Amino acid sequence: MEQTHKKPESFTVDHISMQAPQVRKVGVYDGKHGDKISKFDLRFVKPNTGAIPTGGIHTLEHLLATYMKTYLDGVIDISPMGCRTGFYMSVWGNVPSGEVQRALIRSLHEVLNTAWEDVPGISARECGNYRDHSLFAAKEYARLVLEGYGEL
Ligand SMILES: [Zn+2]
Repeated sequence: MEQTHKKPESFTVDHISMQAPQVRKVGVYDGKHGDKISKFDLRFVKPNTGAIPTGGIHTLEHLLATYMKTYLDGVIDISPMGCRTGFYMSVWGNVPSGEVQRALIRSLHEVLNTAWEDVPGISARECGNYRDHSLFAAKEYARLVLEGYGEL
């Protein structure tokens, strides 16, 4: 018999009407012991209109992994989407989108002020593809998102 697979939420969301930048709360998940985890879609680029180059999204991943944890409590993980139009982020607790958006805006301002020497984890020992980084592209897209929010 054929196995039926569960469809991820993101495959049922209309990507044509989706706007960017946008912080979208995907859902709140309940753990067996009463813990809650919120999942967010941090959309940087409107789907199917472009994509962040791999070097840029990789460097943003390294920077946001650090900065978002500074400005938001309980961040578990922040990972680039395969389509390169944004990130998924998981956070402990039931966290409102507005709080995430404020933390993202602060983090992206910090990206703009980051020097290459200060990008964390970019040696061959620390990263799985240390040659594929671009702080230039990371800043370009940080600027684009801040502009979209009217925060530049
Ligand atoms: Zn890396």
